[in-house]
Amino acid sequence: MTANGFAGLDPCVHCGFCLQSCPTFLVTGDESDSPRGRIVLMRALARGDLDASDPTLRLHLDRCLGCRGCEPVCPSGVAYGGALEHARAVMASSRPASIVTRLVLAVMADPLLRIPAMFLARLARPFAAWFAGKSRIGFSFGMLAATKTRHNGMAAWRQGGPSRNDAALPPSRDAVAVFTGCIMSGLFSHVTDATRRTLSANGYDEVTVPAQGCCGALHAHAGAHDDAVALARTNVRAFAGAGDAAIAVNSAGCGAALKDYARLLAHDDLADEARAFAGRVRDVSELLSARGPRPGARLDVTVAYDAPCHLLHAQRVADPPLAVLDAIPGLRRVSYPESELCCGSAGIYSLLEPEMSRAVLARKTEALLASGADVVATGNPGCVMQIGAGLRAAGRFVPVVHPVELLDRSYAAAGLYDG
Ligand code: SF4
Ligand code: SF4
Repeated sequence: MTANGFAGLDPCVHCGFCLQSCPTFLVTGDESDSPRGRIVLMRALARGDLDASDPTLRLHLDRCLGCRGCEPVCPSGVAYGGALEHARAVMASSRPASIVTRLVLAVMADPLLRIPAMFLARLARPFAAWFAGKSRIGFSFGMLAATKTRHNGMAAWRQGGPSRNDAALPPSRDAVAVFTGCIMSGLFSHVTDATRRTLSANGYDEVTVPAQGCCGALHAHAGAHDDAVALARTNVRAFAGAGDAAIAVNSAGCGAALKDYARLLAHDDLADEARAFAGRVRDVSELLSARGPRPGARLDVTVAYDAPCHLLHAQRVADPPLAVLDAIPGLRRVSYPESELCCGSAGIYSLLEPEMSRAVLARKTEALLASGADVVATGNPGCVMQIGAGLRAAGRFVPVVHPVELLDRSYAAAGLYDG
């Protein structure tokens, strides 16, 4: 932890422009659940006017999604996310983490725990949809059901029409190292397979990085600073073996964390390497859009794109995922109100703050259902699970997929490869 971890809050002039962009403020209407109110609390913590164990401080900082929707709208350039992480690390030093938090963080960090846990989850997954529903346990099953591949269902969206497999191959090939993560490798390997295939079809050659691990985003957000640093050090060392290949990420939360390694390791003996690492990280949509991407075959489907907070707000990546979808002939994108607001997933927030998480989600599912979309596309595993479970809890099944899955199906239909 740095001594001036709250410095990012210094520009705040309390104008309040950020209030309507804050999902928790929109739910409660309480100033203390807004960015401005939380900044007041964090400044009081920094000055020592409030103790880290203060119940009001804890209540309102715990309720913060960390979605960073308050950052792009702030005219003063407040860097809220880093200050929140610092506040949570300060609070974590004065209270033990909950059992749920400790369990999830331990499983994600250690492959000896994570691999069997993911295996058990995959065993239960084929039956998860039977038990999905509105209750807390039913919602958890809905989240697990949302991790299932929609490969077979997507075949129905193919339509006759001109195949685009005659599209020119990219003129040059660049090296790329795919970040495989923890949840993505455990429950979303079909997305990583689609990532590899679509990158290859757009002129990227993969360099494998076997010793990589969890990005540490959940640990950093929960205030487990030392664990986040240890995981970051592992990845910086592992990817050094891939030379200067771009690091492709298909999880917005992981991408935001990896791009932040320069800050996280700023005072570490790997600081220079971390800065170089962070400069190589790209969301998969950034790499694909840099090549067009190459168009595929027609898919007759109406899609609502939900921008993950850690892609739109934290990484400021807005257009590349739309370019991925627009490379699919026949695909119709529909817009819907408040699409830039968080879905309420926010890492393990949905487990720790279930009532607020579901209240935030309700606005999202209502808007998505009214949009008339056949499918929702979003580039973050937590959002896929949260929105997928929310739509099932609302009594509707609408598939939720990663944008590269749609491009992958389009490429397979065009005969670019056997996917
Ligand atoms: S965070 Fe930015 S937008 Fe919000 S009150 Fe402070 S200066 Fe205004
Ligand atoms: S990070 Fe999200 S929930 Fe937290 S104050 Fe900012 S907008 Fe509100």
